[in-house]
Amino acid sequence: MTVPSFLFQGMSGVQIDHLATNIIVQYQPEVLKGGKAFDVHRFVDTKLEDLTGVIPVYSNELPPEIYGLTDSANKQVIFQEDLATDESSLNFFRSTQAHETGHCFLHVPQLQQRSRTQVFRQAKGEDGIHLYRKDDIPIYRNPEWQAWRFAGALLMPENPLRMILRDGASLGEIAETFGVNLPFLKTRLKALKILN
Ligand SMILES: [Zn+2]
Repeated sequence: MTVPSFLFQGMSGVQIDHLATNIIVQYQPEVLKGGKAFDVHRFVDTKLEDLTGVIPVYSNELPPEIYGLTDSANKQVIFQEDLATDESSLNFFRSTQAHETGHCFLHVPQLQQRSRTQVFRQAKGEDGIHLYRKDDIPIYRNPEWQAWRFAGALLMPENPLRMILRDGASLGEIAETFGVNLPFLKTRLKALKILN
């Protein structure tokens, strides 16, 4: 007998953006004025546990192909320590932390409420650029899509993103301002229908 996989609450992109913006408003509101990147590393280290009950851990014991892992049963989010300390991967590390933060806010509470557990793993090649449709789960219920949408919203909030675009910044400059990789910026611009 197959156990039906847990069906997460459907969420629209706008709803998810709203949640992420609320976090920025509370913890680093100056980001919304533009020109500044959200300090997701500090947020994870100082606020995540208080807000979600999930403890951040940095470890080299994850398999090398796993960058981040949220374990709802153990209430831990584990990050690949090598990634965390590799300056050249800073932007990718930021997106990984923002993505796992999305799982902690969006999915861990639902699992707890229904006494279910799940482990989310972010592996190589799962970078949020490709939307993968698993089975027949509609995209808005797909926890991976939701967590990536959340990560995009946390690191590239819509208002400052539109402001910097209006100012005529290049995509490279914008990515640098928000501390993200270029493909992730493009995904975000498509999600907001700014880019085709
Ligand atoms: Zn994930």
